Amino acid sequence: MRYDLVVRSQRTVLPDGTRAASVAVSGPAIAAVGEYGARYDADRDIDLGDLALLPGLVDTHVHVNEPGRTEWEGFATATRAAAAGGVTTICDMPLNSLPPTISVAALADKRAAAAGRCWVDVAFWGGAVPGSQASLRPLHDAGVIGFKCFLLDSGVPEFPPLDAAGLRSVLSELAEVDALLVVHAEDAAEIKPAAGRDFGSFVASRPPVAERRAIEKVISAAAGTGARAHIVHLSAAECVAMLAGAKAAGIRLTAETCPHYLYFAAEQVPDGATEFKCCPPIRDSVNREALWRGLEAGVIDCVVSDHSPCPPELKYSGSGDFGEAWGGIASLQLGLSAVWTVARRRGRALDDIVRWMAAAPASLAGLAAKGRLAPGYDADLVAFDPDASYVVDPARLQHRHPVTPYAGRTLTGRVRQTWLRGTSLLDAESGVPDGEPAGRLLNRD
Ligand SMILES: [Zn+2]
Repeated sequence: MRYDLVVRSQRTVLPDGTRAASVAVSGPAIAAVGEYGARYDADRDIDLGDLALLPGLVDTHVHVNEPGRTEWEGFATATRAAAAGGVTTICDMPLNSLPPTISVAALADKRAAAAGRCWVDVAFWGGAVPGSQASLRPLHDAGVIGFKCFLLDSGVPEFPPLDAAGLRSVLSELAEVDALLVVHAEDAAEIKPAAGRDFGSFVASRPPVAERRAIEKVISAAAGTGARAHIVHLSAAECVAMLAGAKAAGIRLTAETCPHYLYFAAEQVPDGATEFKCCPPIRDSVNREALWRGLEAGVIDCVVSDHSPCPPELKYSGSGDFGEAWGGIASLQLGLSAVWTVARRRGRALDDIVRWMAAAPASLAGLAAKGRLAPGYDADLVAFDPDASYVVDPARLQHRHPVTPYAGRTLTGRVRQTWLRGTSLLDAESGVPDGEPAGRLLNRD
């Protein structure tokens, strides 16, 4: 058999552990995994040596904002950032674009906007808002990977939140087709208005109890309906015990956290530094440690970016006022390095990173061909130098507005090459995407 591509590495991260191995690719898929020194008849044979070989990451939480708010972020720029960061599949959130993805027609608009512009593969979430119940089944049939809802103001008027009754009725509907609902879980009744430049006041305005009360509602509704629910961007580590209890009771619940909650701590955030604003907020270092433990214990299932950019004037509006600035941290290109930087210090392995950032998100989104180096899977590969470090230079970021709280930070672990279905994406010198965008628009498998 003749292969199109063979990639060998002393540190190949396979589903059953990291070892010296080779991955042979035929067409768009992995055809074989063999010994490091295995002989193949191949068009290209690349030996990465000590560079690690990972499956391409799957980021299930990305706000692309196109169409409608393309000046915030678009498919071309977001997917370029993804490729440069070792992410080969993104799942686009249904809000912040116009129209929001709450109908089959809006999904068609999304797909039309994305077609031909994506450097990596893109799947789509649908939205569940009051009055959109009749669109859930048609959107599910049209291939969305699940549905997103809010339990409080989303920040954009066209994507209103569900109340407790609405949540239960959406989950009942989704249970019939076993579709997933992902929930922004903060309770407005526990949140106070925040204003001013003091980061501590902003964090105090959105306390852990706001997450806890909302997650209680989700657990109760998931238990009552038998539906699958997922908590997005968990920040309050005190909720880990509640999640563990619900899982142990057989409630179909999963959770994610994000690189910024695992990397930053509130004590380090300067007043007026609105580039750190996101909701729920980055909390203190004690909370960060407890989040890590929840992740390491397997209660938190995955780490995804919540990449949510906006133009700099919205991020810095009101000269450092946390009440006015747009909430969102854009880290598609940096998430792998940010998480690895801390994980490595904690003695974690690349296997953990791949589980949290590739395998688990792929399985969450029902993308059966993604997230693993194994025969039959898409040949989405990343050459990663786990020992190299670099200083984050916003000028090198590929997303539209390179505002980032990571600017100037030294991160460990660098992407050297990314392959999408067997095709390399990055210029070897500059590390930025090269060639033509060939990402596909995916449906749920
Ligand atoms: Zn989000």
